[in-house]
Amino acid sequence: MKGWMSLVFILACLLWLIPTAVHADSVKVQVDNLNVRSGPDLSHSALGKVQKNESYSIVDQKGDWIKINWNNKTGWVADWLVKVKQKETVKSKVDYLRVRSKAGMDGDIQGYLMKDEKVTKLDQQGEWVHIDRSKASGWVHQSYMSTYSEEQPKKTSEAEPSKSLGKVKVATALLNVRSKATSNSSILTQVAKGDSFEYFDEKQGWYKVGLSNNKSGWVAGWLVTKDNSSKTTPQSNTTVSLQYNATNLRSGPSTNHEVLGSSDKGDQLSVISKEGSWYKVSYKDSSAYVAGSIVKENKSSNIKSASASKGNLRGKTIVLDAGHGGFDPGAIGRNGTYEKTLTLQTAQNLKSTLEQNGASVVMTRTNDSYLSLSARTALSNASSGDVFISVHYNSVPATNRATGINTYFYNDSTQTLASNIQSGLINSTGLSDRGIANGNFHILRNNQKPSVLVELGFISDVNEEKTVNSSGFQSKASQGITNGLINYFK
Ligand SMILES: [Zn+2]
Repeated sequence: MKGWMSLVFILACLLWLIPTAVHADSVKVQVDNLNVRSGPDLSHSALGKVQKNESYSIVDQKGDWIKINWNNKTGWVADWLVKVKQKETVKSKVDYLRVRSKAGMDGDIQGYLMKDEKVTKLDQQGEWVHIDRSKASGWVHQSYMSTYSEEQPKKTSEAEPSKSLGKVKVATALLNVRSKATSNSSILTQVAKGDSFEYFDEKQGWYKVGLSNNKSGWVAGWLVTKDNSSKTTPQSNTTVSLQYNATNLRSGPSTNHEVLGSSDKGDQLSVISKEGSWYKVSYKDSSAYVAGSIVKENKSSNIKSASASKGNLRGKTIVLDAGHGGFDPGAIGRNGTYEKTLTLQTAQNLKSTLEQNGASVVMTRTNDSYLSLSARTALSNASSGDVFISVHYNSVPATNRATGINTYFYNDSTQTLASNIQSGLINSTGLSDRGIANGNFHILRNNQKPSVLVELGFISDVNEEKTVNSSGFQSKASQGITNGLINYFK
């Protein structure tokens, strides 16, 4: 909670603050002493200078001007004086490709990439490619559709309509439709809040939507909600339980088929049919195949079908707020963890888990940018959210010791929500239970949605800081909150 500010932002700011997209595109400065300006044209004052060959990540674009992240601030540079570098995506050719801590066989094994898993390439040293692992999990999970279609040879004629993957609804007052799945591509048109569009592709958090003039364009996924209402999930009493982590789910019944995604040990998938030794299962509003030899079939009707256990949040919209961001780091851990980094990581992880359970998710921020508390509550109030969750990590001064999780609510009516989420978290993470409490925080007080603020552990405690940084904790916390929400909506 440390460092919370309550600057009053006018609503118009929302339009500028929220679309600062997270993407790996960057600019390389082409000249010396290039001015970084406070706004997107020459009339704005210079905030400072950047030098030739320096690289900065892009946060936005307007006309011929690019907004960059620069010394923990943002500023605008003229696009004709920089070179835009698109991120490069690479994929593994084999299953269980070792991911090492450094470039060389002596690097510790940190994890594995599965065949066809795609990741962002950051850098290369000799024969070793530095990949962005943190993004890999989220990216593979959310956007396999686009990579899949991207890789397919385009034999079909342009006239052939693509298959609609579902509908998205605009969740912000005015939304830019862009030519590519990045916030620095050109704006084709704008659409208004409440408008609903079929989408045909999904790529790194962006949706390719069909426009009325038979054209298509890309919209930012964090500014729309998924419209699940028209989708029906096949009902089945037969499910399979996965026996291994990172089990591949494929587009057809053999290992020659494209990997659509993966799922972990214990996950249950609803069976649509059996083809040879392969199961066709429900997967993400569509279907996928999993090898019969590596799953266990559950025929009992007592076992909840996957469509029920996985779709308990269907029709619900959850607004996720990653605390702090940008120049406001929040608390700083004993070993240097920034609260703002952890909160974003948790929110992104939680987003995936909620979506797997059928929920739509709106994020207040999706990258390391500053967002005022008023902007966060305004976004929540304007959204179709059923619940608002603000994610934080706790801290006490070095002279004190504290550990554990607590959940705050403001209105008495949200006490049940708080206690459901708190018990979900405690059951799932095993961290100590600090209980629920009334918290008079701006983000709860000015929120019209049932809202809670979770403090997911103390980064001022060396051990707990280590725990909460682990991916195991991150997914347990996500599952805990999700379970809490499922109980709350029951
Ligand atoms: Zn905080």
